[in-house]
Amino acid sequence: MTFIEVAGAKVDTRHYIGGARVASAETFTNTSPVDGSFLGEIARGGQTEIDLAVAAANKAFKGWAALGPVGRGELLMKLAELVEENIETLAQLETMDNGSLLRSHRRGVMPRVAMNIRFFADWAINHLAHEKFETRGHTNNISWDPSGVCALITPWNAPLMLATWKIGPALAAGDTVVLKPAEWTPLSASFFADLTKQAGIPDGVFNVVQGYGREAGAALVAHTDIARISFTGSVPTAKVIAKAAADNLTPLSFELGGKSPLLVFEDADLDLAAELAVEQYDNAGQVCLSGTRILVHEAVADAFAEKFRERAAKIKQGDPRDETTDIGPQIHQVHFDRIKGFVDRAKAEGQTIVMGGEPNDDLGGLFFRPTLIQPSAGAEIVTQEVFGPVLCMQTFATDEQALEMANGTEFGLAAVVVSGIREHAEKITKELVAGTIWVNCFFVRDLRAPFGGSRKSGIGREGGNWSFDFYADVKNTVVSPNGWKE
Ligand code: ADP
Repeated sequence: MTFIEVAGAKVDTRHYIGGARVASAETFTNTSPVDGSFLGEIARGGQTEIDLAVAAANKAFKGWAALGPVGRGELLMKLAELVEENIETLAQLETMDNGSLLRSHRRGVMPRVAMNIRFFADWAINHLAHEKFETRGHTNNISWDPSGVCALITPWNAPLMLATWKIGPALAAGDTVVLKPAEWTPLSASFFADLTKQAGIPDGVFNVVQGYGREAGAALVAHTDIARISFTGSVPTAKVIAKAAADNLTPLSFELGGKSPLLVFEDADLDLAAELAVEQYDNAGQVCLSGTRILVHEAVADAFAEKFRERAAKIKQGDPRDETTDIGPQIHQVHFDRIKGFVDRAKAEGQTIVMGGEPNDDLGGLFFRPTLIQPSAGAEIVTQEVFGPVLCMQTFATDEQALEMANGTEFGLAAVVVSGIREHAEKITKELVAGTIWVNCFFVRDLRAPFGGSRKSGIGREGGNWSFDFYADVKNTVVSPNGWKE
């Protein structure tokens, strides 16, 4: 069977290579985290399929590059329109495949998928800084040339959204793409491949190979004909990929995990602080940017905890297709067990469980109760990324202590600062180590702004010119005023 029907949509289970569907001898099983139902058997690619896809992408490269930003832009705008026409289908598909809320896919995520494509197509046409400047009569001409085939490896927590942060700028820059989606969530990428065909994107420009990370993923990142590797996922996998990339000196961009602090100061609006803290449970805590370490000034800790509990009590956990649900299931049994393992070990160590701390037995399946833990300093639960609905709360007495705790992990992805006094917030943000800091807000993301992680949270930045710095070969052509025959 080469198609599966999910939420009324027909999704091809084969790879998409050189504009055609390609099967594999072997398959892997895809189940839904929503209700554990069997979704289908998906083609399981490896070295052979990766070789085919990279060859197809290489063959298509010259023609795609030659179209220029305007020619490519016309097709990418059409693709964005097709995404918009299919928002409902994509939303339903993604929810069944990864268990995130249908309402946020409908109203937030899928519209942003279209925007990601449109934004980068427009940026390549209108905003790339093709500077020209003079050096003693010589002209420096800066250009952003296409670089080749990009290997894109993506995670399961926001499958199509995160993929298009990479696909958008790569295609707009004139590169061609081989995408390896996460094995737990292959469906939206396959459906998206059909949309690229309908948009008229030439065969071979965009390819999808499905499969396991250690098979298809490993073959892709080790390929010698790859110009760029862009990866979003975990630190251990990033280390494996970096070693493979080192053999070919392939440039890479990494967006990895975090253990971000959410700082609540004595001068904070505590209602706002509680609201922002509860937001960290969004997507069942499966968000790399989540501020999972709540650090509260001791003078307001009790008042904050009270407001937090009141607000958290209103969270509705349940079927992600229900419009009134706030938190759905975790992605997969393996991941659910990982989260439970963290919490069980915290309990065994004697850490204080303030709220939750166990599976939601009323719902069964992959539902884990929103959890708040008050750990001792240095505990595993407050230093390691859990990637689930598990927040930690600790107190501090001074700004110095707050900063030491906030900066005291190996990560540096994001930070949330809640303070009512501008000068105070400014003083704190200057000292925080993080790629993105939100002050009295969370998750405001503008594609013009840089996005990425410090320390072990990543390598490189995405957004605006930063994306093109990575995907393009930036060239300076210096032209002399002398030596001309005319
Ligand atoms: P998680 O453990 O949470 O699934 P990973 O970082 O392992 O996170 O997975 C993110 C993506 O990386 C997935 O698409 C996965 O298939 C891929 N991946 C895993 N291992 C490798 C590998 N050795 N080489 C390339 N890609 C990999």
